[in-house]
Amino acid sequence: MKTIGLYIHIPFCLKKCNYCDFNSFEAVEFIYDYLLALKKEISSLKGCGYTVKTLYIGGGTPTILNCDQLVSLFKTLYESIDIAHYAEITIEANPGTLTRDKLILLKAMGVNRLSIGLQAYQNRLLKIMGRIHTVEDFEKNFDTARSVGYDNINVDLIFGLPYQKVEDFKHTIRRILSLSPEHISCYALSVEEGTEFYRWQEKGELPLPSEEDERAMYYEAIDAFTRQGYNHYEISNFAVYGRESKHNMVYWTYKDYLGIGAGAHSFLNNERFYNHSSIPVYIKSITKSANAVAHIEPISAEEQQAEYCFLGLRLLEGLDKKHFYQRFGREITQVYGKAIVKLKEQGLLEENRQKLRLTAQGLDFANAVFAEFLP
Ligand code: SF4
Repeated sequence: MKTIGLYIHIPFCLKKCNYCDFNSFEAVEFIYDYLLALKKEISSLKGCGYTVKTLYIGGGTPTILNCDQLVSLFKTLYESIDIAHYAEITIEANPGTLTRDKLILLKAMGVNRLSIGLQAYQNRLLKIMGRIHTVEDFEKNFDTARSVGYDNINVDLIFGLPYQKVEDFKHTIRRILSLSPEHISCYALSVEEGTEFYRWQEKGELPLPSEEDERAMYYEAIDAFTRQGYNHYEISNFAVYGRESKHNMVYWTYKDYLGIGAGAHSFLNNERFYNHSSIPVYIKSITKSANAVAHIEPISAEEQQAEYCFLGLRLLEGLDKKHFYQRFGREITQVYGKAIVKLKEQGLLEENRQKLRLTAQGLDFANAVFAEFLP
């Protein structure tokens, strides 16, 4: 049986955050019809022959669903596809949408990993970001999750926020460490077109920290988390050893995954495809034909090699040269010899007999490194 990662998209949020360019909408009036369509798409997996080794319910805000809706969603999942008994089952949650009852129910449904979006430990920054919750809401939810037995919790943080000082971020780090989550995701803010932040930036009203301060925040995170014993295993991710995100590892190690729901992306048998991202279009397509694929793209061998490299290089342990050979039938040096020599000379890459990986300096210039692998 082939194993895959399965992603389920719940594209609803109570309020759109000011920096968010994800496929998420405040259109909660569509929830009922969307769930009917989503369950129909999930049911179409019956007999597909895949075993799910990681299940990730993301969004949006999946915990916006009420207990009945969550039960019905999980029931459809378990009836439609083989979910391995050892599977990592994650749900994304936002403070303000979690209750004790919901947390207990999710655990009973098999959820064994929670990913909570906090972003910053200052209410004034949360407000600027347009988040619906306060730091106190987060602490309450985190404590409740622990009290009902969740022992694998990720907390999402963002740095480089408008009005954020290095000292603010250090405070965020200290407070997070005092809670000892098993996993911390820590991404630099990226201002994307179509967001409120982008509009503010266009008007000159988005005072971001200097590049120097933003880098200082990143180094602070690496230093503080690793000193506390976390494994800095991916550019932006830290985990207690053994609690690395298995689902995200599917993406970074270029394994197959299937995405269900509006706008969800899949990568199966060297083909990439994705669903319509508009909620009404998705519902209409599924209702009509149980299929909402908007685009299918075969990935050429050249593109696969490039993607394998720049995803694998996101991992601090680096990519496995033997796996590259096993997958593509060519030595990595045959394909990228020149680029590897150049990047090593620049001090951005290093290699040993098994692995090729970013140096500490390479971490800072990761995008420039990845560009060298583009076809
Ligand atoms: S909660 Fe997450 S998905 Fe929803 S609007 Fe905010 S950033 Fe976007």
